[in-house]
This record gives sequence, C-alpha cells and structure tokens, in this order.
Amino acid sequence: MRVPIIAGNWKMNKTVSEAVELVRVLRESTADVEKVEMVVCPPFVSLMAVKDALAGSKIGLGAQNVFWEEKGAFTGEIAAGMLKDLVTYVIIGHSERRQYFGETDATVNKRVNAALKAGLTPIVCVGETLAQREAGETAAVVSHQVLNGLAGLTAEQAKSIVLAYEPVWAIGTGRASTGDDANAVVAQNIRVPLSKLFGEAVAQGIRVQYGGSVTAANAAEFMSRPEIDGALVGGASLKAADFTGIIEATAQVK
Ligand code: PEP
Repeated sequence: MRVPIIAGNWKMNKTVSEAVELVRVLRESTADVEKVEMVVCPPFVSLMAVKDALAGSKIGLGAQNVFWEEKGAFTGEIAAGMLKDLVTYVIIGHSERRQYFGETDATVNKRVNAALKAGLTPIVCVGETLAQREAGETAAVVSHQVLNGLAGLTAEQAKSIVLAYEPVWAIGTGRASTGDDANAVVAQNIRVPLSKLFGEAVAQGIRVQYGGSVTAANAAEFMSRPEIDGALVGGASLKAADFTGIIEATAQVK
C-alpha cells in the first residue's frame, strides 16, 4: 500500500509571519485527517518558524531545493546537512528550477544523492513542456528524466523517494491534465523506467504524485487513479481552505 502524500510547494510566497499564520490555520483544519501524509514546503527563511508552529502536528515540513556540496564557498546555497535538523522532505528538480536556474538531470541526480545521504526524502519532479508534448515527446522526455535523475541509486535508496509528475504546461496555468492522461504517463513513463532501475517490486512501492493546477475541485479526478499517490500543489497550497479541500478529497478517494 502506498500512503498518499499531498505536498504544498509555496514557491517564493509568504513572509515569515504569513507562513506561520497559514500553518496555524492548516494544523487545525487538518487535525482529523488520517491516512494522508501532509507536507508544506515554505521558502528557506520560514523553515525555522514554521517548524516551531507545526510542532506536535501531523503536517511534515519540506524545503524547495538543496545544494549537493556539504559546505564551503557556495554563496547563497544550502546544504542537505543544514536542512536535516529542520525538514524531512526536499523538492528537487522542479520545472521552475529547470527553466530559470539551469537545473539538469545531472544536477538533479547530485541533489538527490546529497538529500538521501542526509536522510531527507526527496520529492523529485519530472514532466514535459508544452512544446515537447505537442511534438509527441512526452514518453521520451519523462522516462529520460527518471532514468537520468535517479541513475546510480540503490534500490534501497529508491524506496524512500517520492516522484512528482508535473507536466510543465499544467503548472500555474489553470489547465490541469486529466486523470486518465496523468495516470497513463505515470504507469508507462515513470513506473516502467523505475522498474528498469530498481526492479518491479520497488517500482510498485514508490509514490508518484501528480502536480499541475490541482484544486479542491479536481483533486478527486487525479486521486481516484490507481497510479497516482498524491499531489504536489502550488497555487492552491497558499490558502488553508483550498489545501485542506485537496487533502480531504484525497482522504475520501484513497
Ligand atoms: C507546482 O508548482 O509544483 C505546481 C504544481 O503549481 P500549481 O499547483 O500552481 O500548478
């Protein structure tokens, strides 16, 4: 059984006090939720305060990125060893990092290794752009990202990873994919490569989220699909009621 996981990627939103206020409301609105792993990923500067605000709650904490070196002259970067006292999860390879900050499968691979070494759970994002989809390249692009981003990991390491299938054209556009399409991509272009890398049993145990314009209104469509084990949520994670609605829809459907 794969436990569904709903993670909120806050991106570059919320001041420290706004972040604390959001999780104060969220921890109350989700207090009765069971059997859904819940995660919020605020900006680095809010992690400490949000960690305190979440103490004793069921909501886990994640970061939005991690650098692969352990320490040294890397101005502006944050190492996995610095994060591990604060967070349990870390988003890696988000399409915005690929698009705006030169992230590649090779750098994703280095970050995943560093995160695992520190005992963090990586949430590794993959997904095709609109141009790639229209050129019929979705299968090739997504499986290539999985095979290269996770190359060299052991099956044991892979067990703790979460993947997020996020078609780039669906992120922040209000144009979500469909449950059937996302389910098919996860089955064919994510689980098959995972199985090649780590064997079928491990591939079947790895959780794969869908991400891209998920809302409380459409969450059930994705969560009702057998290959989809949760959601990575951007915009709708910034309002407690919307994020809670997605979590509740997941708890009902799964
Ligand atoms: C994301 O940033 O990972 C995301 C899925 O954003 P949104 O939900 O806003 O499309």
